[in-house]
Formats: sequence, structure tokens, C-alpha cells
Amino acid sequence: MLNIILMGPPGAGKGTHAKWLSTEWHLPHISTGDMFREAMASGSELGNKIKDIVNGGGLVSDELTCELVKERLSREDCANGYLLDGFPRTIPQAEALASFGKEIGREVNLVIDIECPSDVLIKRISGRRVCPKCGASFNVETMKPKVEGVCDYCGTPLIQRKDDNASSFAVRLENYHKSTAPLLDFYKKAGLLHSFDGTLPILNMEAELGALLKSKE
Ligand code: ADP
Ligand code: ZN
Repeated sequence: MLNIILMGPPGAGKGTHAKWLSTEWHLPHISTGDMFREAMASGSELGNKIKDIVNGGGLVSDELTCELVKERLSREDCANGYLLDGFPRTIPQAEALASFGKEIGREVNLVIDIECPSDVLIKRISGRRVCPKCGASFNVETMKPKVEGVCDYCGTPLIQRKDDNASSFAVRLENYHKSTAPLLDFYKKAGLLHSFDGTLPILNMEAELGALLKSKE
């Protein structure tokens, strides 16, 4: 059974590879960023509470985030494996996951870390356009959709995320280095960490990730 965490700085390609991995390996893709964006779009109480934090590039509180993830992982569709994207992002979140994961029978057994230098991340994020319906990502320079401004998969007009601007990105990157990067050591010590070069072409990355998952299946 594969209980996977996908890690990496904003723009490293977590979402892109998560989409492929979850389809190919039949794992539910659980993205805290997507869950928060859905809450914001629906105008729910949670959505209104977190809107300014998320759009500014800040981190939602550990308490709120952990509660949301615990509930999601408890569901039946995660019983045969899952793919967590964007969680944990802080040491307290990783500790909480270790403890409730044990409690609900969902312990992590593989951590995939996608590395990428900052200058590449900035280019990717500033050119990124996403599909608000199916979550697919494109880039106006490096990964153009077939028809400009339209999703290849579902035909929906693409949008730019509110936090994909220079100042929010700077906050996200700083949070990554300050709060999230220390987790790499945490999972390395646990013997779960596998790091990949996020600048590789997508197909090469898929081949490498596929080989790793096969060896762990
Ligand atoms: P990216 O990895 O590109 O920065 P995500 O889509 O994973 O973006 O997350 C978007 C935003 O959602 C984050 O900047 C943060 O505000 C919030 N968020 C997502 N996951 C977490 C988390 N585990 N803890 C706190 N905040 C989170
Ligand atoms: Zn789409």
C-alpha cells in the first residue's frame, strides 16, 4: 500500500506530477491547496476565514489544516493508499500526521521530494495559468495550452491564481525554506525520503517516479 507525501517548493511541479501519479496509480489526490481554494470559491465559513492568508501567500493555521486532513484521510477511499500534496508543511503538521495517521491506520510510508532552483520556480509561477474546473496547470511560455487561454482537458477558460504574483510568491518561498524544508530532514531520518530533480522534462520525471513506486508497491 502506498501512503505518499509529495513535497517541494511552490512551482516545483507537485500538482502536475500528482495528477499523473494519482491517475496512473489509482490513488486519491489530496491537495490542501485545492481544498482551501474550493472552500474560498464556495464562500464557506472556512473559505472566508482563510482567504486573505492564502491569497497573500501565508500559511493557514496548523490546527485548521490538520483537522481538515485528518477528516479527509479517514474516508474510505484512502484505505488502499493516498497521495498527499501540500501537507504537511510544518513540523507540527508532520508530528500531527504521524500521530493521527497511526490512530486511523493511514501511516505515511513514502515521501517524494521535488527539488527546483528559485530562478526556475519564479519563471514557472509567473507564467502559470490553471483550470479552475479540473485543476490542470499550463504555462504561457513553456507549457502552452493547445488553444490560448483554454484548458486542454475540459475546455474551461484558464485563470491566474491570486497568489501567483511576485509578492505572494516571495512569502510562499520564504515559508517553504523556513517552515517546510526542515521536514526533509525529519523524513530523511525516518528513511522515507526520495528526492528528484524537478527541472527534468515531465516524461523523464514520470519514468523515475513510476520506477520508484513500482519498487515500493
Ligand atoms: P503551492 O505549493 O504552489 O504554494 P498550494 O496549492 O499547495 O500551493 O497551496 C496554496 C496555499 O494554500 C498556500 O500558500 C497556503 O496558504 C495554503 N496551504 C496549503 N497547504 C497548507 C498547509 N499544509 N498548511 C498551511 N497552509 C496551507
Ligand atoms: Zn480543465
